[in-house]
Amino acid sequence: MVLGPPPQEGSVAVVVRVRPPAPCERERATHSILQVVDQHILVFDPEEHSGPPSSVLPTHGPKHHGKDLKFVFDRVFGEEAAQEEVFQHTTHELLDSVLNGYNCSVFAYGATGAGKTYTMLGSDKSPGIMYLTMVELYKRIEARKEEKSCEVLVSYQEVYNEQIHDLLEPKGPLAIREDPEKGVVVQGLSFHQPASAEQLLEMLANGNRNRTQHPTDANTTSSRSHAIFQIYVKQQDRTGGLTHNLQVAKMSLIDLAGSERASVANTKGERLREGANINRSLLALINVINALAETKSKKSHIPYRDSKLTRLLKDSIGGNCRTIMIAAVSPSVLAYEDTYNTLKYASRAK
Ligand code: ADP
Ligand code: MG
Repeated sequence: MVLGPPPQEGSVAVVVRVRPPAPCERERATHSILQVVDQHILVFDPEEHSGPPSSVLPTHGPKHHGKDLKFVFDRVFGEEAAQEEVFQHTTHELLDSVLNGYNCSVFAYGATGAGKTYTMLGSDKSPGIMYLTMVELYKRIEARKEEKSCEVLVSYQEVYNEQIHDLLEPKGPLAIREDPEKGVVVQGLSFHQPASAEQLLEMLANGNRNRTQHPTDANTTSSRSHAIFQIYVKQQDRTGGLTHNLQVAKMSLIDLAGSERASVANTKGERLREGANINRSLLALINVINALAETKSKKSHIPYRDSKLTRLLKDSIGGNCRTIMIAAVSPSVLAYEDTYNTLKYASRAK
């Protein structure tokens, strides 16, 4: 099995997805800064190319010449990997956990333009993990409907500037509450029951149009907002015409804000501090994941309370929740620093 045996408490599996170079990247620079060695090993800035051409790097900041660094991950997906393949070897493996009553989460992490939204949401022609997960979930539920009664609800929300917004029924910012029975609750968040996979796609596309747009962003959708798609699975056993043993679990699929601002500060493993313009929720999530990685078996303090995003996901990361981080990277020398920072961070998250 690809992601290994069931994880220790709170562990995070980390995979990397290399996107194909964009046409403009191909034009400006031809060589790739990444070499996928096999399903687990990725080399950054392989020796034969020895370093980025100075023309594409800023003159300030750290420089790396021919780093030839080898990284090991739970899985590496190369440029040619299809959406279905990424899904099969990541989120697909969490579906059993959710159907067994455990909360799970999957994050797309990486710089703006690295392929996070493509991986999570995808396009009409190649829908991403959010869609593929729902299709598979409906299939599983159908297959065991004799033994289990099952209800599936979804929500789609955004954390932007430390405010939570419903992307499916936009209204004012929403508050978080912790309920002793229901866990984390976002007050006023709308829940939906898509009747078909097609309807779900439409719903997600509409939701995405409601994401906060910033005219100054290089990317068409905002690089500063976190989009959180949650699937709630409510099950009961069926025996002799009666239902019992209510079990509720949720899966959170998250398209994170661009990591380019967060990565500058964190090279030596110290906790990130909030600096000018660094996205607070992203920073807090990084700190939570680092704390989980550092303290795998020890029970130590996990700083969930530091941001909206981490409060929202408190019941879905750590504890007995399985988490997968998909680090998205560009193979282009034009993204040299971003790719390096993402790989460095991702390899520490395990
Ligand atoms: P991000 O959400 O990380 O800012 P996007 O997902 O929007 O980045 O990707 C940037 C561009 O690259 C988009 O045009 C997207 O369609 C394209 N892209 C990203 N990943 C892939 C991939 N694996 N295959 C083909 N195109 C991709
Ligand atoms: Mg995006």
